[in-house]
Amino acid sequence: MSIRTHLAGADLAPLLMVYVQLSGDTAILAEFRPYITGPWCYNESVPQALKERLYDRLADLLEAIDAGRAQAAPPPDRRTLAEMTRTCVGQAVPDEYLPLIAHEMQLAGTPPLEVDWRERPSDERVADFRVLIIGAGESGLCLGIKLLALGIPFVILEKNETVGGTWLENRYPGCGVDTPNHFYQFSFEPNHDWSRYFSPRDEIWQYLEACADRHALRPHIRFRTEVTEARWDEAAAAWRVSARTADGSSEQFVGNALVCAVGQLNRPKMPDIEGLERFGGPVMHTARWDERVSLAGKRLAMIGTGASGMQVGPAVVDRVEQLTIFQRSPHWAVHNPLYHSQVGEGKKWALKHLPHYANWYRFQLFWAAGDGLYPSLKVDPDWPTPDISLNAENHAMRERLIEHISRELDHDPALLAKAVPNYPPYGKRMLRDNHWFRMLTRPNVELVTDPIERIEPAGVVTRDGRLREADMLVLATGFQADRLTWPMHIEGRGGQTLRDRWGEDDPRAYLGITVPDFPNFFMMYGPNTNLAHGGSAIFHSECQTRYTLLALRELIERGRRAMDCRREVHDDFNRRVDALHSRMVWAHPGVGSWYKNKRGRVFATTPWRLLDYWDMTRTLQPDDYLFT
Ligand code: NAP
Repeated sequence: MSIRTHLAGADLAPLLMVYVQLSGDTAILAEFRPYITGPWCYNESVPQALKERLYDRLADLLEAIDAGRAQAAPPPDRRTLAEMTRTCVGQAVPDEYLPLIAHEMQLAGTPPLEVDWRERPSDERVADFRVLIIGAGESGLCLGIKLLALGIPFVILEKNETVGGTWLENRYPGCGVDTPNHFYQFSFEPNHDWSRYFSPRDEIWQYLEACADRHALRPHIRFRTEVTEARWDEAAAAWRVSARTADGSSEQFVGNALVCAVGQLNRPKMPDIEGLERFGGPVMHTARWDERVSLAGKRLAMIGTGASGMQVGPAVVDRVEQLTIFQRSPHWAVHNPLYHSQVGEGKKWALKHLPHYANWYRFQLFWAAGDGLYPSLKVDPDWPTPDISLNAENHAMRERLIEHISRELDHDPALLAKAVPNYPPYGKRMLRDNHWFRMLTRPNVELVTDPIERIEPAGVVTRDGRLREADMLVLATGFQADRLTWPMHIEGRGGQTLRDRWGEDDPRAYLGITVPDFPNFFMMYGPNTNLAHGGSAIFHSECQTRYTLLALRELIERGRRAMDCRREVHDDFNRRVDALHSRMVWAHPGVGSWYKNKRGRVFATTPWRLLDYWDMTRTLQPDDYLFT
């Protein structure tokens, strides 16, 4: 296939950026600008003749460079980069984003940030140093890969038999990612072969497996080793960790630093419903799916309609005789035309072979799935309908979502009344409509909104006394996010545990990473770091990895024994978190979600923009810590 043919299958805006970056010809940007009016929506509106001109010019240039008849232009300067970024996504990109864009997307040939500690610390400095990491999910792997590159000894303690964390454990039908996959990947391990824009679970798990293999990480991981306790030993300035091994015995580990990378969505939450244990058929939580149980011809009852439930329903509806869905409260779900699409060959070719294309595409996704929505999730104090929306933009989004839901439900008033949430969009996690609403119209599907009273051997009884018979029960009831680090016993200075500090459901940390009196202890995906307005959890993991490496540098290179977050720094940070949240959608009084604790405090979700968090974690202020 000719280059020209490949180009026609790639995305236009990144192609345009490739051409401008290679040629230095910025004049062409003005020709395309009127047609690129948003990060997703441009391809259709660009006139064919203009597209052809770009393909021709780029193909000629690539051939000329290849043949040595032309040279690539030098990297764009700041002003050009600003103009290119604006044109690429068809929106104003404030200058404050340029450093992040230049580094993270490596758009201007800028090396990644951790370059300033890419040099390995001297062998004698690290000889007696060891990091213990709990969990070989994506964030534990991320940190492990970086530690390995730096030559810092570490061991990852993993309860499962292999890597992958949530992507290993969640195997329910329909499981997949709903963040664009080319952004939901390590920036340093791009996969140009994702089959879909939003890939299924197997492919993501295999990607993580491949990352572990490519970086020869497995010898540094102790599988089937579940951490039960970790205690800070003040005299030795070390963490003493106990773990349960495969044969049930206990093994001890000692490390100078301890990193908890178990995340927020680790332990399934079983609903507290009377009679659950008496149900007569198989009962499966989505995160503990048993593939051996056949669904064929079953009457399936499913409790829960969050991200997991919404993926299970459409994936099983054709296999079961009856699907009865018990919904406590409805979720908003947005339509994305690419959700089920395969990535075309032209796109894969461009990602693999065209210089700069993958970086520009990543930037486009970063922008489209990033901070763009953030302002619309802030409360306008003068907004007249605060129960159902927050401001004009949020309200317009609500109207668009309702229009979509209504169309999908064939405007059925009874279903609409059940399926349209009465709280503002984004109050709970925004889901992707994977034909969920259309599925609700099927004759073998019933959406039940009467509250569940109890479970009997034959099925589920609702408050109106009605029994819906079922052969199998699926619990799509989420995770114990509020009991972060549970059931581990993590004990810091003075014998205090994280549980003492946080109570039942109020985890707090500085930057979501460090906790006073827990020296040399770091968290990945800790309190207030869940992303709910956009972004990618892996982007956040990389921020936390970078910050943890900076902290380890303080310890190793300056020969410190311990670093402990100052209480006033931690408290001030959490005050700012709460103040910001009080004006954001996730604290909305009409919404119940796993982001909030019983008192309504938002403990899970970040109130910051991606830019803010990136900025707060790219340097470490030594004054934030007490060193010994
Ligand atoms: P979830 O969002 O917490 O949803 C749990 C569901 O169960 C909710 O509908 C909840 O109702 C319902 N529920 C809980 N206890 C109940 C009870 N006692 N009686 C009746 N209903 C009950 O959990 P999830 O769907 O597993 O998702 C958790 C998070 O995992 C997501 O927000 C997301 O961050 C992540 N995830 C991501 C993906 C993806 O990328 N595609 C997929 C799955 C999960 P209420 O809403 O009324 O509380």
